[in-house]
Amino acid sequence: MRAVDILMKKRAGETLTEAEIRFIIDGYVKGEIPDYQISALLMAIFFRGMTAKETAILTETMLDSGDRMDLSGIPGPFVDKHSTGGVGDKISLPLAPMVAACGVKVPMMSGRALGHTGGTLDKLESIPGYRTSLELSEFRKGLIEDGFAMTGQTARVVPADKKLYALRDVTATVESIPLITASILSKKVAEGADGIVFDVKCGSGAFMKTYNDARALASSLVATGTAMGKRVVAVLTDMSQPLGYKLGNFLEIEETLDCLEGKGPQDVMELTFRLGAWMLVLGGAAETIEEGRARCEEAISSGAALERFYRNVVRQGGNVGQMLERRGSWRSDFARELKAENDGYIESIDALDIGLAGVYLGVGRNRTEDNVSPTAGFIFEKKRGDLVKKGDRIAIAYGKDEASLDPAMALARKAVSISKEAPQSLSLVIEEITAP
Ligand code: URA
Repeated sequence: MRAVDILMKKRAGETLTEAEIRFIIDGYVKGEIPDYQISALLMAIFFRGMTAKETAILTETMLDSGDRMDLSGIPGPFVDKHSTGGVGDKISLPLAPMVAACGVKVPMMSGRALGHTGGTLDKLESIPGYRTSLELSEFRKGLIEDGFAMTGQTARVVPADKKLYALRDVTATVESIPLITASILSKKVAEGADGIVFDVKCGSGAFMKTYNDARALASSLVATGTAMGKRVVAVLTDMSQPLGYKLGNFLEIEETLDCLEGKGPQDVMELTFRLGAWMLVLGGAAETIEEGRARCEEAISSGAALERFYRNVVRQGGNVGQMLERRGSWRSDFARELKAENDGYIESIDALDIGLAGVYLGVGRNRTEDNVSPTAGFIFEKKRGDLVKKGDRIAIAYGKDEASLDPAMALARKAVSISKEAPQSLSLVIEEITAP
């Protein structure tokens, strides 16, 4: 087999066989096929696409390049959630203990903040002492005893994705539906989940900005995941404004505690319940989405989900006492108010601008090696649709230092638009795509 023949075939829009996909991807991972040939392949896939079967084979091949989480001997079901990334998106934090409290195990491997999107690991690490780099034995113990555990990805999880993603990044081939699908799905399947709920965000703060792109990705994730024998569902959700009222690492831990105590913001709770209900359905712990939601609500109102969260914090080295002491008061000294510039209704608070402002403040990072601040972020007092008077406070921004505030505030001011008319209400859950 020759790589050049495979390139010609994909360039002509033909379907590659399993042997061809394995030959070229394995050869690349082993260093036997050069970057320039894989760059050409990526561009051919970008323009010609892949069938669901080809995408499933690509995903399996990438998965085989590394280790799979060994969950053998632990009774399931195992169901996880993946979000394509957003601003103020702390859903994983209340979701995992809530679903675990309902009897479905959640083997959660999360990521860090990058660009305008936040990262679950950075949020958890703002809890004093909390460790996100777990040995397999610790991860297994957490799953057995608490029903969930939270860890980061090791270098052995889908090394093919790291290599391919780096090349996609510099060859303008990131935005290809089959390549994104294989990248996301390979990492989720490596965790050992039997079922996966995808939260595919749509809007300015999302990876997929338009409905059509988000829907295409959601459909591809469902088709490919199903072809790989997984139980999957994709929920398209709005990411045109930040989720919740608090954005920042420790600030989002605070909002997580509010959610687990049953007093979280309406949008965060709505999404947590919807995604949780689907996780219970996929895991066989509920027959219908309504039953799943009722069980999730019960896990919150009974305090069972909160108790699981505390258990996890303790297990992963976190100090619950310090977390609770700092709640409501652990703030950076560098603060600035964002005020309404006119009277009217808040028409939008642009998620992308707020996410980028967050990077200046120290919530997120531009490069993987940058540090984040636990106490930076925004506390919003108003959201889309609220009526304001000129001079009313919309948010307080907390920066890692004084210099971070000017550029962050310029973006935050740009993010807010105020109109005389009340904006139409937006649905948070736009559409759900289930397997045929
Ligand atoms: N997120 C991923 O993990 N991979 C992609 O290719 C795009 C977004």
